[in-house]
Amino acid sequence: MILWKTEYAVAPVLQILHWNTKQHWITISNIGVRSTGVINVYDSKWYDDDIALQNMLAGFLRCATDKLTVNFMHVQHQSNNTDCGLFAVAFANSLAFGQDPTALRYSPVAIRRLLLQQLQDGMLQPFPSTVIPPHRPILRTKVLQLYCMCRMPDDGREMVQCDRCDSWYHVSCVGLDNTARDWYCNKCCVV
Ligand SMILES: [Zn+2]
Ligand SMILES: [Zn+2]
Repeated sequence: MILWKTEYAVAPVLQILHWNTKQHWITISNIGVRSTGVINVYDSKWYDDDIALQNMLAGFLRCATDKLTVNFMHVQHQSNNTDCGLFAVAFANSLAFGQDPTALRYSPVAIRRLLLQQLQDGMLQPFPSTVIPPHRPILRTKVLQLYCMCRMPDDGREMVQCDRCDSWYHVSCVGLDNTARDWYCNKCCVV
């Protein structure tokens, strides 16, 4: 078993999310991450990210930072189109028990049987897995620039720039109806 450091620079996040545009379950966590504004995505299909995922992550995390760094982790790739939920549970299980999912290989058949047993028993325990040879734990990293008071990425909505601090805001979030004249954000309006 690989034990991770249990000291956190930030409040720990461990969540299974449904990625609507891919009809797909993934696990996200900052366990093992040492700085704010960073999230690891454990995706058993290794899908390319899209705006839907970016919005879901930013909306869920509501980072106070200017950027959200998303690490797509090098976890086991599922061999069918049905086990994403099982893998998402397995990744969450390993993280919760201090294991690094990128270092593990799971047997979906064994985990499916054990998960049912554990749910019936009302007691979750570490799933069986084998440790695989060391490899790069991160497949790729994407840095999302966050804007506005909603702290969301640029998703194509119309934006307006503060004429004092140059920060960008969604027109719909600040309730602006005329972007032609000078405009100052809430932070810059405070005297
Ligand atoms: Zn906004
Ligand atoms: Zn401003």
